[in-house]
Amino acid sequence: MRMTAFEDVSLRALMLLAANDTGQPLPTRTIADGVGTPYNHVSKAVLKLRELGYVEATRGRAGGVQLSETGRKATVGGVLRSLDTRADLVDCESPNGDCPLNHDCGLRGALRRAREAFYRELDGVAVASLPTQRQMGPVLVQIGLRPPGA
Ligand code: SF4
Repeated sequence: MRMTAFEDVSLRALMLLAANDTGQPLPTRTIADGVGTPYNHVSKAVLKLRELGYVEATRGRAGGVQLSETGRKATVGGVLRSLDTRADLVDCESPNGDCPLNHDCGLRGALRRAREAFYRELDGVAVASLPTQRQMGPVLVQIGLRPPGA
């Protein structure tokens, strides 16, 4: 199963926020630089993550975004479920005409079960447990949260 670009950037942002040990919120532009994704994409993802309660935002000069309590406990499965608005993995019903096999389709049910199994596997993975020093160290240096060589 392939994640959407939106899901991917949302998880990247959550991982970077989990690795931020400065105690200070991160501006969206800094998150965008850290996750290597254009600002407007990250901005939309941050807005959605805020709506879902995974992050909190503060305004002002030192404002930005940080993980909420919910975000600190969030699992990859939980985040993906809350971002996935698709009824089905394939377009069984579409404005251009429904699939003619759309009556008691066994494949449709099997795909739904497979998606659920995919999420269930990721329900045991806390997003905040994923970032490692080796992974995030260079990123934190690059966005100025750590001095070079730290
Ligand atoms: S074959 Fe089944 S799963 Fe595939 S599009 Fe048609 S109804 Fe959906």
